[in-house]
Amino acid sequence: MDASPETLVDFHTHSHFSDGVLSPAALVERARTRRVGTLALTDHDTTAGLAEARAACAAAQIHFVPGVELSAQWRGQTIHIVGLQVDESHAGFLSHLDAVLQRRQERLREIGERLEKRARLPGRELAARAAIATAPTRLHLARLLVEGGHARDTQEAFDRWLNRDKAGHVPAEWPALTAAMTVLRDSGAIAVLAHPHRYRLSSGQLRELTAAFAQEGGAALEASMAGMSPNDADRIASLCRRFKLHASMGSDFHDPAVPWNPLGRWLKLASGLEPVTNCLPEPRR
Ligand code: AMP
Ligand code: MN
Ligand code: MN
Ligand code: MN
Repeated sequence: MDASPETLVDFHTHSHFSDGVLSPAALVERARTRRVGTLALTDHDTTAGLAEARAACAAAQIHFVPGVELSAQWRGQTIHIVGLQVDESHAGFLSHLDAVLQRRQERLREIGERLEKRARLPGRELAARAAIATAPTRLHLARLLVEGGHARDTQEAFDRWLNRDKAGHVPAEWPALTAAMTVLRDSGAIAVLAHPHRYRLSSGQLRELTAAFAQEGGAALEASMAGMSPNDADRIASLCRRFKLHASMGSDFHDPAVPWNPLGRWLKLASGLEPVTNCLPEPRR
């Protein structure tokens, strides 16, 4: 793939098919005005936006990489795995996504029940509305809590109602890391460990997670993300070198109203790191 170091790339973005706010076409238009040359759409546990994004990228002459961000469980923690160059017609992959969708709907229903019983909020109604989304997440519910005047913003909705030890907390039960890695491999995609600096893990635990990820055939760590401190970047770069993983880069863009993570990252990386562009598979025909 042709990607000079001067090109802006983005291998982690969301549309309104999961918890982003823009349509895929509007996301691509924004990428075009930002001069992003390569763009992956990586909605949570859904491929529903890929066809629209692919068509818009073709029209805008942007190199498109079909992606997904899978939720997975490792030692009781929620871990996100970005899959790049997914085959969205692969049957095993689609049935995995379908099972996760059912879990998401069921979890929202339970959260709604708890908010109703423990916090006397109209939880059932709000959860039912949130669950209509193509890939419903707790962020959908947080937005409805804000709309209903139960929190000032989505961060407060999480802090007050949804986070651990709050009335509406329901632990997630995602497929095991191994299952997510298997389904990505089967669909011809490479696996990227998303935002490794954001998990609540000690350095030792993060090293063990990275070892498990590499052992399962993982290809890259997200090593250049908006909002990463120099210290985080150093830690992740060391893990890439130690486990011989490539480095991916993305914004995790959800919403144009969040000014600190614009679309597009530079390909330039710390010495010794190989960009994920060097290990992207060819699209399946
Ligand atoms: P879910 O996959 O349903 O657990 O929802 C996860 C999504 O909610 C994440 O991808 C974020 O977009 C958002 N989210 C999770 N935790 C928080 C938080 N503490 N504050 C704000 N947004 C959050
Ligand atoms: Mn999200
Ligand atoms: Mn994530
Ligand atoms: Mn994301």
